[in-house]
Amino acid sequence: MARQRALKPCAAPACATLVRGGTYCQRHQEEYDQRRKQALKRTHAKYNERRAESDKFYGTSRWRKLSLYYRRLHPLCVRCRELGRATPAQVVDHIKPLKTHPELATEWDNLRSLCHACHNQIGEKVGLGPGV
Ligand SMILES: [Zn+2]
Ligand SMILES: [Zn+2]
Repeated sequence: MARQRALKPCAAPACATLVRGGTYCQRHQEEYDQRRKQALKRTHAKYNERRAESDKFYGTSRWRKLSLYYRRLHPLCVRCRELGRATPAQVVDHIKPLKTHPELATEWDNLRSLCHACHNQIGEKVGLGPGV
Protein backbone atom coordinates (compact mmCIF):
# COMPACT_ATOMS: atom_id res chain seq x y z
CA MET A 1 0.00 0.00 0.00
CA ALA A 2 1.32 3.44 -0.93
CA ARG A 3 2.02 5.70 1.98
CA GLN A 4 0.33 9.04 1.92
CA ARG A 5 2.68 11.89 1.22
CA ALA A 6 3.34 14.29 4.06
CA LEU A 7 1.71 17.67 4.20
CA LYS A 8 4.05 20.54 3.37
CA PRO A 9 3.47 24.26 3.43
CA CYS A 10 3.00 25.89 0.02
CA ALA A 11 6.31 27.07 -1.46
CA ALA A 12 5.05 30.58 -2.07
CA PRO A 13 6.44 33.02 0.48
CA ALA A 14 4.03 33.95 3.24
CA CYS A 15 1.49 31.29 2.24
CA ALA A 16 0.57 28.95 5.09
CA THR A 17 -1.63 26.58 3.09
CA LEU A 18 -0.61 22.96 3.53
CA VAL A 19 -0.29 20.86 0.37
CA ARG A 20 -0.04 17.13 -0.04
CA GLY A 21 2.36 16.30 -2.89
CA GLY A 22 3.25 19.10 -5.30
CA THR A 23 4.93 22.34 -4.41
CA TYR A 24 2.23 24.98 -4.32
CA CYS A 25 -1.31 25.28 -3.13
CA GLN A 26 -3.87 25.44 -5.90
CA ARG A 27 -3.99 29.20 -6.05
CA HIS A 28 -0.22 29.62 -6.17
CA GLN A 29 0.15 26.76 -8.63
CA GLU A 30 -2.10 28.68 -11.00
CA GLU A 31 -0.06 31.82 -10.50
CA TYR A 32 3.12 29.88 -11.10
CA ASP A 33 1.78 28.34 -14.32
CA GLN A 34 0.70 31.76 -15.49
CA ARG A 35 4.14 33.20 -14.86
CA ARG A 36 5.79 30.35 -16.70
CA LYS A 37 3.51 30.86 -19.67
CA GLN A 38 4.43 34.54 -19.75
CA ALA A 39 8.13 33.73 -19.63
CA LEU A 40 7.74 31.27 -22.48
CA LYS A 41 5.93 33.87 -24.53
CA ARG A 42 8.78 36.31 -23.96
CA THR A 43 11.31 33.72 -25.10
CA HIS A 44 9.35 33.18 -28.30
CA ALA A 45 9.09 36.89 -28.93
CA LYS A 46 12.85 37.21 -28.58
CA TYR A 47 13.39 34.32 -30.96
CA ASN A 48 11.11 35.90 -33.57
CA GLU A 49 12.90 39.18 -33.18
CA ARG A 50 16.24 37.55 -33.85
CA ARG A 51 14.75 35.72 -36.78
CA ALA A 52 13.52 38.96 -38.26
CA GLU A 53 17.03 40.34 -37.88
CA SER A 54 18.57 37.47 -39.80
CA ASP A 55 15.92 37.76 -42.50
CA LYS A 56 16.84 41.40 -42.82
CA PHE A 57 20.48 40.48 -43.17
CA TYR A 58 19.80 38.17 -46.12
CA GLY A 59 18.10 41.07 -47.87
CA THR A 60 21.03 43.47 -47.61
CA SER A 61 23.04 44.31 -50.70
CA ARG A 62 26.17 43.53 -48.71
CA TRP A 63 25.10 39.93 -48.30
CA ARG A 64 23.83 39.63 -51.86
CA LYS A 65 27.15 40.83 -53.22
CA LEU A 66 29.11 38.59 -50.90
CA SER A 67 27.08 35.48 -51.69
CA LEU A 68 27.26 36.17 -55.42
CA TYR A 69 31.00 36.56 -55.22
CA TYR A 70 31.31 33.43 -53.08
CA ARG A 71 29.29 31.38 -55.53
CA ARG A 72 31.41 32.59 -58.41
CA LEU A 73 34.45 31.12 -56.66
CA HIS A 74 32.58 28.03 -55.43
CA PRO A 75 30.06 27.31 -58.18
CA LEU A 76 29.27 23.74 -57.16
CA CYS A 77 27.26 22.40 -54.22
CA VAL A 78 29.85 21.13 -51.72
CA ARG A 79 27.55 18.48 -50.32
CA CYS A 80 26.79 17.00 -53.73
CA ARG A 81 30.46 17.13 -54.58
CA GLU A 82 31.20 14.97 -51.55
CA LEU A 83 28.76 12.43 -52.99
CA GLY A 84 30.45 12.60 -56.39
CA ARG A 85 27.79 14.74 -58.03
CA ALA A 86 28.33 18.05 -59.76
CA THR A 87 25.34 20.26 -58.97
CA PRO A 88 25.41 24.01 -59.50
CA ALA A 89 25.15 25.87 -56.20
CA GLN A 90 22.02 27.92 -55.76
CA VAL A 91 22.46 29.28 -52.27
CA VAL A 92 25.29 30.26 -49.97
CA ASP A 93 24.75 28.77 -46.56
CA HIS A 94 26.14 29.69 -43.16
CA ILE A 95 27.80 26.63 -41.62
CA LYS A 96 27.26 28.04 -38.16
CA PRO A 97 23.76 29.52 -38.40
CA LEU A 98 23.37 33.25 -38.57
CA LYS A 99 20.84 33.09 -35.77
CA THR A 100 23.28 31.70 -33.25
CA HIS A 101 26.49 33.15 -34.69
CA PRO A 102 25.66 36.59 -36.11
CA GLU A 103 29.30 37.60 -35.69
CA LEU A 104 30.25 35.04 -38.36
CA ALA A 105 27.72 36.39 -40.87
CA THR A 106 30.32 37.55 -43.39
CA GLU A 107 33.12 35.23 -42.30
CA TRP A 108 34.42 33.51 -45.44
CA ASP A 109 35.25 30.27 -43.58
CA ASN A 110 31.70 30.03 -42.30
CA LEU A 111 30.17 29.92 -45.79
CA ARG A 112 29.49 27.05 -48.16
CA SER A 113 27.81 26.71 -51.51
CA LEU A 114 24.74 24.46 -51.63
CA CYS A 115 22.04 23.47 -54.08
CA HIS A 116 18.42 23.93 -53.00
CA ALA A 117 17.89 20.24 -52.26
CA CYS A 118 20.90 20.02 -49.95
CA HIS A 119 20.09 23.31 -48.30
CA ASN A 120 16.59 22.12 -47.49
CA GLN A 121 17.84 18.84 -46.12
CA ILE A 122 20.32 20.55 -43.87
CA GLY A 123 17.72 23.09 -42.81
CA GLU A 124 15.46 20.33 -41.55
CA LYS A 125 18.19 18.99 -39.36
CA VAL A 126 18.89 22.28 -37.68
CA GLY A 127 17.84 22.14 -34.07
CA LEU A 128 18.81 18.54 -33.51
CA GLY A 129 21.90 19.65 -31.65
CA PRO A 130 25.64 19.75 -32.21
CA GLY A 131 27.31 17.48 -34.71
CA VAL A 132 24.47 17.46 -37.21
ZN1 LIG B 1 0.02 29.04 -1.61
ZN1 LIG C 1 23.60 19.58 -53.32
